[in-house]
Amino acid sequence: MKKIIKNIYHVGDSGCSVFLVDTQSEYGLVLIDAGMSLDFIRQIDSYNMRFKDIKHCILTHCHIDHIDACAALKGALPKIRFYAHELDSVPIEEPGHDERTAASWYGVKYKPVKLDRKFYSDMTLTLGGYDFQIIHTPGHTPGSISVLVESEGKKVLFGQDLHGPFNDGFLSDLEDYQASMQKLLDLKADILCEGHYGIFEPADKVREYIETYKRQNQH
Ligand SMILES: [Zn+2]
Repeated sequence: MKKIIKNIYHVGDSGCSVFLVDTQSEYGLVLIDAGMSLDFIRQIDSYNMRFKDIKHCILTHCHIDHIDACAALKGALPKIRFYAHELDSVPIEEPGHDERTAASWYGVKYKPVKLDRKFYSDMTLTLGGYDFQIIHTPGHTPGSISVLVESEGKKVLFGQDLHGPFNDGFLSDLEDYQASMQKLLDLKADILCEGHYGIFEPADKVREYIETYKRQNQH
């Protein structure tokens, strides 16, 4: 567990990087993706935070390395609310989409969870004093989203799997991807929290990271 900036943490890596925002309010703790292990998320108890205060989980897309722990989270925290984009909702909510979730790659049996709210377009989700800007960034998957939050005047971007990979089983679309990456570049984020490659700052490193993958994955 590592503090990134005030009230924003990198919980660590379990399948994917899992991030956490402490809203310091009755809205509790907000997870960005769940990763693959509940035990791993429970470790936040050793860092002056309480696992039972996790009340929300925003899923950036439907891949198993980001969503596998959801069913166990729901079992441990029945009131937790899950959020994702509507275009990735079917593989998250229904069984049998092992190619779209990549469960077949990982040899994992995914247990579906119901979403409490689906995003249909870009919007702002306000939880406590934090505005979570939900940005639809299709490409890797149709319902991939990125999330932007401000802390101490800095724009923190959660951009999971901006690097890809891209394939037909995921319904990837490189044309959409190009437009999505341009959308993210236009945000001029100060800090990028990526799904598998760590945390990038300041703003020119964020730009460089996004531009590199955008260039490598032309349609
Ligand atoms: Zn993915």
